[in-house]
Amino acid sequence: MSLWKCGVAGCDGRFEEVEDAIIHQTVEHERHECKVCGTIVPEGYFAIRHAFEEHSRAEFVRAYDANSSDVRERERVKSDVESEADLQTVVETLKEQGAL
Ligand SMILES: [Zn+2]
Ligand SMILES: [Zn+2]
Repeated sequence: MSLWKCGVAGCDGRFEEVEDAIIHQTVEHERHECKVCGTIVPEGYFAIRHAFEEHSRAEFVRAYDANSSDVRERERVKSDVESEADLQTVVETLKEQGAL
């Protein structure tokens, strides 16, 4: 069984459950400031979701000096997470912990 990597720069956290990986990213890592609009969002999955749902791919590429493989990688992570994770439970857990 393959493990979910945290994926945040400098972190080699690995998790059996995708929900644990997202909770880790949100609780253990510093918040991320969106380079497009300046909104503070949790690091990791939520930062990707924010960038791709609130902004266009072109805005993302410009603001992050990214290329098309960066975009594809994040789109892959986002769809992998969304097909596996029970995001409602994740959000409820984080709210209980006061992390969202
Ligand atoms: Zn991490
Ligand atoms: Zn933004």
